[in-house]
This record gives sequence, structure tokens and C-alpha cells, in this order.
Amino acid sequence: GFKMGIVGLPNVGKSTLFNALTRTAAAQAANFPFCTIEPNVGDVAVPDARLEKLAEIAGSKQIIPTRMTFVDIAGLVKGASRGEGLGNQFLANIREVDAIAHVLRCFEDGDVTHVENRVDPVADAETIETELMLADIESIDKRLQNIVRKVRGGDKEAVQQERLLRAALAALEDGKPARVVDVDAEDMRAWKQLQLLTTKPVLYVCNVGEEDAAEGNAFSARVAEMAAAEGNAHVVISARIEEEISQLDAEEAQMFLEEMGLHEAGLDRLIRAGYTLLHLETYFTVGPKEARAWTIPSGATAPKAAGVIHGDFEKGFIRAETIAYDDFVTLGGEQAAKEAGKMRAEGKAYVVRDGDVLHFLFNT
Ligand code: GDP
Repeated sequence: GFKMGIVGLPNVGKSTLFNALTRTAAAQAANFPFCTIEPNVGDVAVPDARLEKLAEIAGSKQIIPTRMTFVDIAGLVKGASRGEGLGNQFLANIREVDAIAHVLRCFEDGDVTHVENRVDPVADAETIETELMLADIESIDKRLQNIVRKVRGGDKEAVQQERLLRAALAALEDGKPARVVDVDAEDMRAWKQLQLLTTKPVLYVCNVGEEDAAEGNAFSARVAEMAAAEGNAHVVISARIEEEISQLDAEEAQMFLEEMGLHEAGLDRLIRAGYTLLHLETYFTVGPKEARAWTIPSGATAPKAAGVIHGDFEKGFIRAETIAYDDFVTLGGEQAAKEAGKMRAEGKAYVVRDGDVLHFLFNT
């Protein structure tokens, strides 16, 4: 599955957000209760209204949403790369995530201490990014030393690694995150395997006070500007509101949102922003027993998509009976879509589209 690491300075609202994310009724979709893997790891259902629609049309007994994992990575403070705070353990945790949700304090409250005694989300973002850059420099130095021998021996992989590590190092020493490096398509795989912290996509989560939840504020506006300049994403959320919502049932939650002038829970927006940031898409399998959503990287072919369900589906892939979501819904189900000629038989080269309803045929 896909993993998002929640980071941020102390007292910015990370735990509040994490608790809201993992406790909310939507996250604990009936059939798949939220499971705590570790105290700081939560598996959250990806909200998708299309799935309910499909289940309704097909009369599916169960609805199984797709999931995204959130890891609350506490302990990042100034000096973490030198082993302060939780230090290295913390950095190891970040290495494993696909993207970083960076919570920034965009609220003022004299009762909640700010580690630097001022509210300045852009400066906070820089503090954290600096630690991540320092950690990358350190790990690159180590890795360069470790591959010296192989590079001298002419090992092709090591030569490529060295070239990429040096490109990253040049950017970092210039005070820039490694994500600014232009990487050729043929180097992409090796580049990703370096797992540098500052190549991970970042979603800035502006934690605003309750009164600013609908419109954001001057702080979140500055974050939006920064995110756009970096090619990263941002969302505006009030962690406190989300925490309150997480204790309500669906109907109460909707009423509460409307009172606050919000159309949708911030957590839904956050999860969807994560999806977009990670270039993820959803396809569906729909039958009388269950309607289920599955996550794939955008651009995945039909066999790759089948492989998300089971490795054997990919290996023995024959074809995918495919109905576009809109056809399924407007025509009123699989049989009707088939009769209208809207069920396509797609082969190995088919690139799955977001919302496709698929049925795989495969050899065992
Ligand atoms: P963490 O250290 O980043 O995990 O931060 P916490 O989630 O523990 O929050 C730190 C404190 O800030 C707690 O007392 C929260 O209730 C408070 N807090 C979180 N979000 C908001 C907010 O939007 N407004 C205000 N006034 N306080 C908040």
C-alpha cells in the first residue's frame, strides 16, 4: 500500500490530525475497521463517493474502500540530523514513506507553546527541510564512500549510482532539496532507489484555527505560495475541527460541516490531495458480493492493475472486461452496459483509466 508520513515541528497539531484521521467514522469503514498496526501507524479508508454509487447499482452486499497508510512521525526538531530528538530513528521512518504530509502551524494561540516562540509556517517548513537536507548529505557521503571500490572496478550500477549521488549532493550543497535535480527517464528507477528524503513529494497541511477553516488565513496563503513555487501541494485544515468531526456519526458530521461553512471534511481533501500528489488512481471491481476500490499508480497497464489484487492475476492475465465508470452508472449496471456495447475486452497493453470497472480473466 501507499504510505504518507506526517511530520512537523512539535506542537503544530500532528497528533490531533493523526487521531482525527484514524478515528473518523469514514476511516473505519464498516467492513474494515481501522487497525492500529503500531500506535503511530493508521490505515485509513480512501473516501470515494463513486464506490457507494456502484454498490447501490449492483446491489453489492459489501463495500470495501481502498486504503492509505498514515505514519505519525514525531520527534523532528532542529538538530534531528545530528541525532537530537529521536534523530536517526525518525529519519529511518521517513525513508520508508512514499510522500510527506508536512503539518505547519497556521494558528495563533498563546496557550500553545511554539518551539521558536513565533508563528511562521514558512520558516518552520525551512527548518524541517534543512534537517532533511542535512540528513541526505550525510547519507550520500556515507554511500559514496561505500561504493568507491565498486566504481573503480567499473561496476555499471555503482557508476550510475555515483553519478546520481553526486548530482543530488551538488544541489544539496547549493542549499536546495534533491528534488530539483533533473533526472533522465532511464535513471529514474535508480534515482528512486536512492530513497533520498528531499526527493519525496510534500503535501503541506496548513493547520488553521477553527475560525479560519473555511477560508484559510494569511499564514496559509503564504504556505500556498511556497508550495506552488516548489511544485508541491497544500491543503488547509483545522485539526481541531477534524478531531470534533471524528467523534460524530456521518449525519451529524455533515450538519456540523455545513454550520462551519465547509462542504467536505478536511480529511477527505487531505487524502485526495495525497492521491493526486502520488499520482494514484482508482479502479473498481463490482459484483453482488462486494464493490471494491483498488489503488494503482496512474499509467498502470491492465495486468499491473490485476496484480494489485493477486500476483497470479498478473501472471496469468488474459484480458480485462472493462466498463467506464460513467457508462456503468448512466446505463445502470454491467448487464445494461454490455448490451449497449460499452463493455470492452482489453488486452495486456491497455492503460487503465481512473474509475474503470474491471473484471479480469486469467489462466491459473
Ligand atoms: P504535535 O506535537 O504536533 O503532535 O501537536 P498536538 O496535536 O499535540 O497539538 C499541540 C497542541 O496544539 C494541543 O494542545 C492541541 O490541542 C493544540 N492545537 C492543535 N490544533 C490547534 C488549532 O487549530 N488551534 C488551537 N488553538 N490549538 C490547536
